[in-house]
Amino acid sequence: MAVFEKIVIANRGEIALRILRACHAMGIKTVAVHSTVDRNLKHVAMADESVCIGPAPAIESYLNVPAIIAATEVTDAVAVHPGYGFLAENADFAERIEESGFVFIGPRPETIRLMGDKVSAIQAMRAAGVPCVPGSDGPLTEDAAEAKKIARKVGYPVIIKAAAGGGGRGMRVVHTEAHLNNALQLTRQEAGSTFGNDTVYLEKYLENPRHIEIQVIADEHGNAVHLGERDCSTQRRHQKVIEEAPALGITPEQREEIGAVCVEACKRIGYRGAGTFEFLFDGGRFYFIEMNTRIQVEHPVTERITGVDLVREQILVAAGKPLSFTQQDIQIRGHAIECRINAEDPVTFMPCPGLIEAFHAPGGPGIRTETHIYDGYRVPPNYDSMIGKIIAFGETRDLAIARMRVALDEMVLNGIKTNVALHKWLLHDPGFLKGGFNIHYLEKRLEERSD
Ligand code: ADP
Repeated sequence: MAVFEKIVIANRGEIALRILRACHAMGIKTVAVHSTVDRNLKHVAMADESVCIGPAPAIESYLNVPAIIAATEVTDAVAVHPGYGFLAENADFAERIEESGFVFIGPRPETIRLMGDKVSAIQAMRAAGVPCVPGSDGPLTEDAAEAKKIARKVGYPVIIKAAAGGGGRGMRVVHTEAHLNNALQLTRQEAGSTFGNDTVYLEKYLENPRHIEIQVIADEHGNAVHLGERDCSTQRRHQKVIEEAPALGITPEQREEIGAVCVEACKRIGYRGAGTFEFLFDGGRFYFIEMNTRIQVEHPVTERITGVDLVREQILVAAGKPLSFTQQDIQIRGHAIECRINAEDPVTFMPCPGLIEAFHAPGGPGIRTETHIYDGYRVPPNYDSMIGKIIAFGETRDLAIARMRVALDEMVLNGIKTNVALHKWLLHDPGFLKGGFNIHYLEKRLEERSD
């Protein structure tokens, strides 16, 4: 008997297909819930049942909680997988699902709420022994003198951040005391109007960090395991472009040390499900910035070097099963790299939806393609521009990169503009090949290229 009879996939695109594949491999039936423009998605055709939950705008479909709950009820499904984005980190949604008698495949609503507010997340993590960025360790009050005192203590530059911020928005860097008060007021105002919560806090601004994150998974029986780190320093406008695992230069001892800290924190807060601790890594030290309480886009690189199927494990632990492995079972082998394929203009980076005239996925040893696109599929303009990702594996980083180059050359993707050329260029860039660069590297190279 399958652990769940039937699961609703409350998402779209490549992650919806990824979840469907995991469900079907476990003998679980699937319900695809989709918007009117998404009737032709690949996973909708493959699902056992499908329900249209609203028109194209996400607010009326993929963010429409009553419609998703109604679809779960009418199809007699028992659990909901939220994927990433949309409602994946919405504690109210998780609560509504559970109150309606279904299983939310993710952490408990209280945990999502605790981690969703960056101030409470940092406070909880600090209390659990996780190293955080020096800063206000709590919300800033209206008292300007107090903010000045804190900024002087941590030292300029500092960054003012919205407690409810996300997607790289709601942050402002301050280089000198003269600009502090103004930046504080502006960020507070913006946070209030963008996120409906004007709580802000302050951190030391780390000037040249790498972005390194730790994948964890925990069950309801008090077991938690970390699956090593990912380096996501290849970013543009705080958006990840390429991710890889393991991170160059991180020693097995450093990995074990920070991994153990994350595992301990999971146990302290009673974490359940898959999650990611995001850190800035600077001067050989880790600084926690936030936790993502969901599956992430870049999870396949970790799957490739550890052999763990993270979506399958998410479903098993949501069904109350203990983790099927212990920390000792996790061995890191080889190197994996992921390129996110976006439907966007290669020069302006503006989204470029439209008709895909031809698509052939790359293959061969060590290549995994995760995408929902096919010949004749029309990318709608209503959602994120990411249309897929390619993951390359090799015993060494050099081999993974070599295979990725072949894969990108082999892939046929005609009809729309994409960032494939950007990836091809980066995969020959000497600094990229050397690796271990900081989060500003890609933007710096793009600027040099346009000079
Ligand atoms: P979001 O939830 O919007 O993604 P994060 O807190 O994860 O916000 O920060 C996003 C990015 O902003 C980081 O990856 C990093 O590039 C930059 N950033 C955030 N905090 C700091 C800091 N204290 N110092 C330097 N850069 C930072």
